[in-house]
Amino acid sequence: MGKAMIIGAGGVAGVAAHKCCQNPDVFEEICIASRTLEKCEALKAKLDGGKTKVSVAQVDADNVEMLSGLIKEYKPDIVMNLALPYQDLSIMDACLAAGVHYLDTANYEPPDTAKFEYSHQWAYRDRFKNAGLTAVLGSGFDPGVTGVFSAYAAKHHFDEISRIDILDANAGDHGYPFATNFNPEINIREVTANGSYFEDGKFIEVPPMSVKREYDFPEIGRKDMYLLHHEELESLALNIKGIKRIRFFMTFSQSYLNHLTVLQNVGMTSIEPIMYEGRPIVPLQFLKAVLPDPASLGPRTKGKTNIGCIFKGIKDGQEKDYYLYNVCDHQQCYREVGSQAISYTTGVPAMIGAMMVLTGKWQKPGVYNVEEFDPDPFMAELNRCGLPWQESFAPKTVE
Ligand code: NDP
Repeated sequence: MGKAMIIGAGGVAGVAAHKCCQNPDVFEEICIASRTLEKCEALKAKLDGGKTKVSVAQVDADNVEMLSGLIKEYKPDIVMNLALPYQDLSIMDACLAAGVHYLDTANYEPPDTAKFEYSHQWAYRDRFKNAGLTAVLGSGFDPGVTGVFSAYAAKHHFDEISRIDILDANAGDHGYPFATNFNPEINIREVTANGSYFEDGKFIEVPPMSVKREYDFPEIGRKDMYLLHHEELESLALNIKGIKRIRFFMTFSQSYLNHLTVLQNVGMTSIEPIMYEGRPIVPLQFLKAVLPDPASLGPRTKGKTNIGCIFKGIKDGQEKDYYLYNVCDHQQCYREVGSQAISYTTGVPAMIGAMMVLTGKWQKPGVYNVEEFDPDPFMAELNRCGLPWQESFAPKTVE
């Protein structure tokens, strides 16, 4: 049916590439293009032999001319941006130059300011619309599946949703005192920023890790959760009609928080360059270099993730609670595609989003967040492609 170019060859790209190859009727050919060619080649070696034709290329995705040249040569139907948020705008520019659909899993963040927001990418709406191209923003798990869950709840279960709590719980244990489950630089920038939530039309900021809840989750039990700002709050606040409050909570272990506090106190999480032995280095980038590579956590991580949304609202004049979630087992993911559940829960929805575009189910010219499309075909593919969802009453908070 089509050709996809995957930019990046890290944890998420690895899963997405495996999943594309499991769906050769949709993904007849893929090209894995990233900064380090050896990583693309190593990934291709794991994928060769199936029906999907896999090729590789070296590219610096910050260089629009180089990337658009590569896209024009390979002629994919869609570019899946699974590099880092810093590359979002240059990859969108390259897609426009080459006339190709675009998809990503994380919104743009300027390298020198630890503040992500959608305004940069929403500014491309007219350009994609006029070019007749579709750009799908945030097709990972959160953002991604959480937005699709919200659209599904709004379509099938509520007349109006008033509150959404997104709960991202990871009960996985990798055995290290401190490691991050995805790119350490992006992860630490996210968790050291102020928390915030949406209420009554505005965002309310709170200090990092200052709001804590304990939930008793299906399959993974009691977990401490902390309120964070997260990118889907911004788009859901606009796209879910009548919404009054949206919050995002994530689990952190005490060991993770202790290490993070020390690293922050000694200045290791700073993104301000400092001079070291005559040359500038960014402490957070140095820290990334000494921390375990998230891709290496796969074989060590045991346990499950439980990520989902609690919805509250009105249906047929009655107040209603509804909980939609997915439970994913780290070891099962590792056996299937060689990576842990964090990359898996992002890479699978990235593949499904691209599948939606290639099959024409999610094609409309412009720049859209996932909740702006019909959730039903995506929800069906989640069940088929390894991330089955479950529905129930909300889990209990433990006060
Ligand atoms: P990794 O660090 O494992 O991989 C990033 C890849 O991008 C690497 O292969 C890297 O190349 C490549 N890359 C970086 N810069 C460039 C560049 N200028 N040109 C070409 N390639 C480049 O990250 P993850 O796989 O963990 O994460 C990928 C994305 O997924 C991130 O944007 C992250 O924020 C997002 N994410 C989204 C989630 C969601 O639920 N929505 C959850 C988790 C992650 P090299 O090998 O040379 O370093």
